[in-house]
Amino acid sequence: MADEAGDLHCRAASRLLSEACERDLTPRELAALRYHLDECFTCRNFESHLKFLHAASGRLRSGR
Ligand SMILES: [Zn+2]
Repeated sequence: MADEAGDLHCRAASRLLSEACERDLTPRELAALRYHLDECFTCRNFESHLKFLHAASGRLRSGR
């Protein structure tokens, strides 16, 4: 498993994205996730999909 912030794999990133809907991610998780999203189009796509679902369900988060 990648355990360093900034070295997430897509699978870990998509898991974190899903978990972000259920709980607050730790700063370390968020940093790793953002770093990955910055360079991974696939996961950015997945994120927008989740955000859409999230918004549709009325559970918007402040983003931090
Ligand atoms: Zn990815």
